[in-house]
Amino acid sequence: MPRFGGIEAGGTKFVCAVGSHPDDLEAVEFPTTTPQETIQKVAGFFQSRQPLDALGIGSFGPIDANPKSSTFGYIKSTPKLAWRNFDLAGSLRAALHVPVAFDTDVNAAALAEFRWGAAQGLETFLYVTVGTGIGGGAMVNGQLLHGWQHPEMGHVRVPHDRQLDPFPGNCPYHGDCLEGLIAAPAFEARWGQAPHLLPPGHAAWDLLTHYLAMGLVNWISTLSPEKVILGGGIMQRSELFPQLRSRVAELLNRYIDLPDLVPPSLGTRAGVLGAIALAEAALHA
Ligand code: ZN
Repeated sequence: MPRFGGIEAGGTKFVCAVGSHPDDLEAVEFPTTTPQETIQKVAGFFQSRQPLDALGIGSFGPIDANPKSSTFGYIKSTPKLAWRNFDLAGSLRAALHVPVAFDTDVNAAALAEFRWGAAQGLETFLYVTVGTGIGGGAMVNGQLLHGWQHPEMGHVRVPHDRQLDPFPGNCPYHGDCLEGLIAAPAFEARWGQAPHLLPPGHAAWDLLTHYLAMGLVNWISTLSPEKVILGGGIMQRSELFPQLRSRVAELLNRYIDLPDLVPPSLGTRAGVLGAIALAEAALHA
């Protein structure tokens, strides 16, 4: 049986795993520090578990995920300066001598849900994460969507009434894009508390539903997904789902059908399992 390595590369931690499916996974985490230090730890973990048939990486970004590009495998314009223009896939390929598949963290999570989770058998669906950042990975007609570079769904613009909501937003690139209005750092800036510390019924949750529903309507209208899977730390609050469904239905106003809005079946493991699925797909490509 083939054995794969998978990395969910995030801005705060790298989740690394060895295995081939959800039931045989051995996973560890390393904090994201400097590229050199982080890669040394990650490579050490996989070197001690060779032989591996392939490695998959689902990465924070923006990244270069185009295999035809000369900078394929690089992290691009991240606010984390030490990681900017860092050849993530190449450094691990050099250290481990295995084929390396590379995609966005959200496309990886979408692929895992397709392979083993809530999107099995679907051709067109969306995976959205709402946590430290907001991002979307999509499968359209059976293919992961890349486009020219890759979608950055968290940075869409939604109506922002500054009379009702004076918070200017805190995306370092755009201010009040959707991520700047409702990702975890925006919660901290608005309410002085991380989202997991705010009780049910707090005004933050109505505001989150208000903005996220508008983002969802934009993505649903553009991509026509049959299902939308909503993961990430903030969406671990299951009580948000009914409110979100009814707000999205209200905004769509029966013009198009409301797709299912569901939590990920693979829970918080969708990201690293997606990296394993990317490795598996690379081996069979
Ligand atoms: Zn933005």
